[in-house]
Amino acid sequence: QASTETRYDVIVVGSGAGAMTAALFAADEGLSVLMIEKTAQYGGTSAISGGGIWIPNNHHFQAKGGNDSFDKAWTYLQAAVGDRVDEARLRAYLEQAPRMVRELEKHSRVRFAVAEKYPDYYPHLPGALPGGRSLDPEIFDASVLEEEFANLRPASPTTLLMGKIAWTARQAHKAMSRSFGWRFVLLGLMLRYRLDFKWRRKTDLDRRTALGASLVASLRRSLMDRQVPLWLRTDFRELLVTDGRVSGVRVERDGELIELHASRGVILASGGFERNQALRDRYLPKPTCEAWSATPPGANTGAALEAALAEGAATDLMEHGWWAPTIAVPGEEKPRPIFAERAFPGSIVVNGRGQRFVNEAAPYLEFVAAMYRDNQATDGQSLPAWVIFDGRFRFRYAMGPLMPAQIMPDERLPAEWLNSLYFKADTLDALAQQIGVDSAGLQVSVARLNGFARTGEDLEFGRGGNVFDRYYGSVDVKPNPCLAPLEKGPFYAMRMDAGDIGTKGGLLTNQHAQVLRTDGQVIDGLYAIGNTSASVFGTTYPGAGGTLGPAMTFGYIAAGHLAGQR
Ligand code: FAD
Repeated sequence: QASTETRYDVIVVGSGAGAMTAALFAADEGLSVLMIEKTAQYGGTSAISGGGIWIPNNHHFQAKGGNDSFDKAWTYLQAAVGDRVDEARLRAYLEQAPRMVRELEKHSRVRFAVAEKYPDYYPHLPGALPGGRSLDPEIFDASVLEEEFANLRPASPTTLLMGKIAWTARQAHKAMSRSFGWRFVLLGLMLRYRLDFKWRRKTDLDRRTALGASLVASLRRSLMDRQVPLWLRTDFRELLVTDGRVSGVRVERDGELIELHASRGVILASGGFERNQALRDRYLPKPTCEAWSATPPGANTGAALEAALAEGAATDLMEHGWWAPTIAVPGEEKPRPIFAERAFPGSIVVNGRGQRFVNEAAPYLEFVAAMYRDNQATDGQSLPAWVIFDGRFRFRYAMGPLMPAQIMPDERLPAEWLNSLYFKADTLDALAQQIGVDSAGLQVSVARLNGFARTGEDLEFGRGGNVFDRYYGSVDVKPNPCLAPLEKGPFYAMRMDAGDIGTKGGLLTNQHAQVLRTDGQVIDGLYAIGNTSASVFGTTYPGAGGTLGPAMTFGYIAAGHLAGQR
């Protein structure tokens, strides 16, 4: 923070995982780098995320005997993404992503483990794998950040056990699916947290970071090792252009506008525009609401997008989000995305007519896309949608912040949550009245779903009918781990909004992460990665880690290109 130098080879705007990866590799190429971050905390959405990265053909899976290849992954992406994205860019991703991970682990403190059972999101497509392409950050002891620990954006409660304790995606999956030994895993995690007396005296925050917090903390520490400066509270405003080439940025710092010069180039890595209601209104499907986004409030407001547009940049996919249904929790600054819980057996999601409109367990992007489709078809009945579950579900499973009643019975929940976060009634009819959903419609839908639960086959939407759905299903529920009848009162309902974990559209880039003009020429000296750029996956979400994998890979590519290497 103390540095006042204003001339660098490379300036990186933003401090998410993509930005940090770019800065790290640029520094290792011998370039002088400055990172700037608008808020008082570094890490962005990346820090509060699951931190998973989708890296086909990665060395961790190979080391475990996994069977993946460039060709298999190419087949899968061809089937999923099609020609919606420039082929050279997609190829660059597949070629460089495994290299990026290998290099990162070799030269930095970042470590991953393979999620061998986390399936690709479109298991029916050719080239899909039932696991092995998603990597999960290992636990990282963030006390080595020393005074920088305080500036790390804290993990979101969604990603922590009991809202406090760090756990890896693999541990979370074991507990949620109630796989063999899950109680021991939970007990071990809780004991370790409580017995860390020295740290507990300092803070409630776990010094052991996992998921996105681990990714960002280990990247940050690796950047500290390289003495790469990171300026917090430094708001990017405009690009500086000299002789048609981007040569720096104008920022606001301590109430002053200053110019920072970048002799090689500027990497825009400042997220999407999900926290800018005006840009949402301009680009995203309606209705749209900033408050439905699970990303940090006030952070990603699209300044980089607007600055590059002013220089004639092209955009793509602007009407798409990295959708995920969210539940607003009273008193929390942002809503919680509901990734896994929709697959647990004993729940149903309905629109205002009490009708199902989607496979509840579908990938989160597809789920919200279906909300929008149904909302249009029903004249506004699916925004919001309602997730409804029975007493047995409530006892055994979590839904957003409601921990299973066997751990946290209703009496121990904050009183203000009743009738705001969740609704409760002895009968489905009474519940439907409370939430304004058509009662007869709901009862018909539940009766039909209960029938499917008994036969194990969801004839309407195929819930639990593929390996992806079953990943979060309950292993001890038969014949279909994602289906159980809703029959034991009381019944519960929670509101689901058409949320996101970032926007998907942005600046159009080439295979080197260079920003393109509307005529297809590159804007010299300008790069964009992460959600500042249009997704390399087009309209799809091929697997867990589909946003951070590309953000980091194109960060690696941009750094190499700036150094004249890749
Ligand atoms: P960010 O990580 O948000 O970083 C952008 C940074 O730029 C922010 O710190 C912001 O403050 C800063 N910034 C913005 N404007 C300016 C400005 N004008 N000047 C300076 N700085 C600025 N994706 C995955 O791939 N895998 C997962 O496991 C995963 N899990 C998730 C779980 C949750 C709960 C959530 C909410 C999201 C998850 N995502 C996941 C999505 C993923 O976190 C985001 O898509 C990703 O972090 C976006 O990265 P980014 O670098 O583009 O932006």
